[in-house]
Amino acid sequence: MLPVAWAVGLREAIMRDDAGGRRLTGRLHGAAALALALAVFALDVLSPLQGAVAVLYTVAIVMSSRSHDRRVMLATCAAVLAMAVAGYFISHGGEPLGSPAMRLAVSLIAILIATLLSIRNLAVAEQQRKSEERYRTIFNAAGLPIWEGDWSTAHALLANGGSATPEQIDHIARTATIRAANDAAGRLFGLPDASALIGGTLIPHHTPAAEATLGRILAALVRGDPAIEEETQFLAASGETIDVVLRVTVPPGADGWSRVLIMAIDVTERNRTQARLAQSQAELTHVSRVTTLGQLAASIAHEVNQPLSAIITYAKSGRRWLAREAPDAKEVGDCLDHIASNGTRAADVIARTRDLARNVEPRQDVLALGPLIEETVALLRRDLQTNDVAITLDIGDSLPLVRGDWVQIQQVLMNLMLNAEQAMAETPADQRQLCVKAVHAGATVNVEVRDCGTGISADPESLFAPFFTTKSTGLGMGLSICRSIVERHGGTLVASNNAALGATFRFTLPVIAAGREAA
Ligand code: ADP
Repeated sequence: MLPVAWAVGLREAIMRDDAGGRRLTGRLHGAAALALALAVFALDVLSPLQGAVAVLYTVAIVMSSRSHDRRVMLATCAAVLAMAVAGYFISHGGEPLGSPAMRLAVSLIAILIATLLSIRNLAVAEQQRKSEERYRTIFNAAGLPIWEGDWSTAHALLANGGSATPEQIDHIARTATIRAANDAAGRLFGLPDASALIGGTLIPHHTPAAEATLGRILAALVRGDPAIEEETQFLAASGETIDVVLRVTVPPGADGWSRVLIMAIDVTERNRTQARLAQSQAELTHVSRVTTLGQLAASIAHEVNQPLSAIITYAKSGRRWLAREAPDAKEVGDCLDHIASNGTRAADVIARTRDLARNVEPRQDVLALGPLIEETVALLRRDLQTNDVAITLDIGDSLPLVRGDWVQIQQVLMNLMLNAEQAMAETPADQRQLCVKAVHAGATVNVEVRDCGTGISADPESLFAPFFTTKSTGLGMGLSICRSIVERHGGTLVASNNAALGATFRFTLPVIAAGREAA
């Protein structure tokens, strides 16, 4: 039993890649080199062979180089040099210098060259080992989750180009083993350390999004992209979804994608915060819209009331036409037509108001700004009339289409127009002029809301800061929300004073490119 236990202990010590293990391996190779050198010496001295037997000492030098120990190699070199010289003197000591001496010289040179080359190789190997050690240290010490995957299967399947089929992606995911990982990678997946990852695959943590991401990463690798960045989702050990940004690189020399380096940044918390922020912004936008609607309540009621009064009038007059001795069917028919069209008008106003009051996800529709502006003006008309504001519309012919959310763009216009109306409260009633202009300018449609009110006394940019207000009942959120709506639509919103009276607010919206509109 004892020799077996010793052999097992020895094997383990050799397998261990620590200093002790390396020392022991060195000594064993040194001993083997010495044994080999003695065998060559015996062959040289005892056999009648006349060749350059001493050259075989170079094999002992090569064997000693496997010790990776410079001292062992130098000692072996010295020993074999001595043996070669001793062998010569034992076999040809008294002879005059001749071909044996030449063979000895050749052998000595061969031994020295073999030793020099081995020592140089050792230095290179040592450098490589140190660099590998540094790499491992950085790998393990990095707070960032990093793992190294063996994607040889993917390389074998895709090396000739082409994109992976879903079946191939699945197969690749099942065979891409993790060669190494740091503890941060283990913690990313909700594991205590990296050990549960190493040797396995990421299949237990995969989501459909991760499969799709793998497909895109493979396509990028096939294209030869040096580094690929992709955001995806994995499952933690607890079953919770984690959002990560992956950076995938194939280090130089990792032939056949056998060592693909993957770094991950956990962006779960960032994404949750962004989602909460977007949610709050959407709620704020909605609240502000409903508040504006509240300001327009009288105007909207009037808009609905007008067609309702007309309906009543036409209904009464229809009745009268029917009550005649000879009822006039044509007149009654006309009255009914008017009732229907006024009913539609009232229903339209209610539908528009309901759309503005609703809290729904913003849409990405194809919009014609002309009708949108006209509808907004219709909603505000009564309010503007009540405040003696004259409105001029200047909408360019055949304005190109834009993409966005009807209700949100309407919210921007309503806000700018109501602000303009309020800015003209002190302006003499006969001078209260509001002009809404929309023109096509290259890649954008530019919309202008111009008033002749007080103008802007502060820095125009400060108006867009949240909670900036000069009104006693103002909230100061209107312009800030308008700007974020316009920016979400890919445009800009700015303010400036007019040369004469008042201020102008301008916003731009990108025109839909002809090809995309057709699509
Ligand atoms: P609020 O209307 O609640 O004050 P806004 O963000 O809509 O919030 O407007 C912020 C401020 O910008 C207003 O209080 C006002 O001082 C200024 N402002 C907005 N529109 C105009 C305008 N047309 N002319 C002059 N000042 C304006």
